[in-house]
Amino acid sequence: MAATEKEGARTKQLSSIRVGAAAVNITPPKGTPMAGYYSARYCEGVIDDLYAKALVLDDGQSLVAIVSCDLISIPAYVVAEARRQAAQKIPISTNATLISATHTHTGPTLWRESALDELVGANSKISRKYSEDLPGKISAALVEAFEKRQHSRLWIGRHEEHELSFNRRYWMRDGSVGWNPGKLNPNILRPVGPIDPEVLVLYAESEKGEPLAAYVNFALHCDTVGGSLISADYPGVLSKRLCEYKGQQFITLFGNGACGDINHINVNWADRQKGPQEANRIGTILAGDVMKALAKLEPITAQQFQIKSEVVQLPLAPVTDEDIKHAKEIFAQKEKAKFLDLVFACKVLDVAARKGKPVEAEVQVIALGKQVAWVGLPGEIFVTLGLNIKSGSPFPYTFVVELANGSLGYFPHRSAYSEGQYEVVSARFAEGAGELLVTNALKLLLEAHNSAK
Ligand SMILES: [Zn+2]
Repeated sequence: MAATEKEGARTKQLSSIRVGAAAVNITPPKGTPMAGYYSARYCEGVIDDLYAKALVLDDGQSLVAIVSCDLISIPAYVVAEARRQAAQKIPISTNATLISATHTHTGPTLWRESALDELVGANSKISRKYSEDLPGKISAALVEAFEKRQHSRLWIGRHEEHELSFNRRYWMRDGSVGWNPGKLNPNILRPVGPIDPEVLVLYAESEKGEPLAAYVNFALHCDTVGGSLISADYPGVLSKRLCEYKGQQFITLFGNGACGDINHINVNWADRQKGPQEANRIGTILAGDVMKALAKLEPITAQQFQIKSEVVQLPLAPVTDEDIKHAKEIFAQKEKAKFLDLVFACKVLDVAARKGKPVEAEVQVIALGKQVAWVGLPGEIFVTLGLNIKSGSPFPYTFVVELANGSLGYFPHRSAYSEGQYEVVSARFAEGAGELLVTNALKLLLEAHNSAK
């Protein structure tokens, strides 16, 4: 083949979408209360830094921003303020920004108007200050990515990973459903539900062929490190490994998939799976999956974005006066209370504080032509719900991103409610709320697909 023909083939791949990526450090200072569990612990140092990373995509008519933060979750008020600040500086509409959290359990707490705030120290001055400063940092990442945007080549692809993630709910031999029932537990029969093995990758290079950024989506709870040192957990390792491959300028954004009931614990494997070394293992394997996907990417030929979002009213979990009385008693015992009782108490007190007012949830779809779509959902979504979105989506590539644009807690699928256990005890919403998110997401996906050119 003549050199000019080769050039021709490469030029054909040049996308009309301009791309920019940026990362802003959001590591909290020492002494910051840390998120993750139902008791307070304070940051004593840093294993690896936390970032707010932004990918800005410009189709010539409208801007889209996909943002990922190394945080446990991002409350809707932080998202609203980050969007507002960004819209003051760059021409982006507020519903065109998807801001999600990786769900790292070794980051700062954010104040989020929950009973849990008191238990983890999120009411503290230092947490409130962090929560107040965060929108400015997210907006700074967005503005920097906007300024860096350039003509690029864009690809999309996938690989499957079946050995990293596990459904953490199990049918036990006595007919009950166990939650994280422990390694080599002889009473385990089988997992209650599936996993989602899809590793979805959007990859961008500059016009000259320099690697710019990747957006990686996989469904796996981000809670492997533990302790009181700050870490981005396995998505941090994933970023590091891809930098080793693509260069230090390379920016990897990680959007967690529907992993409400999915974690990394292999109950058939006796080895301990906790600590920074476990994050290294998972991040490294995932990086390998991304590298495998890179070898079979297809170019993105779509040229225009469609942005759809809708606010859905969610029915609250039913709570009786008796529940409220009981919850107050449990809550007064703080860490001395049993774990599931404390989870129950926080849920009941949060629901009671709504005084019957339904919660508003943003369901967001950002689509690129008829080729690629992102679905942003504001909570911890059970995997079956995510799989239902993917199988019903008219797009060949659908990123389902949880903990996006808000942080409303767990969304179990309908049948999980009668099985009980942690996520169900914790869920602030009535049975069927998760399916409401799915129905609305599918509606928006269809609308976006129908109106795409
Ligand atoms: Zn979680």
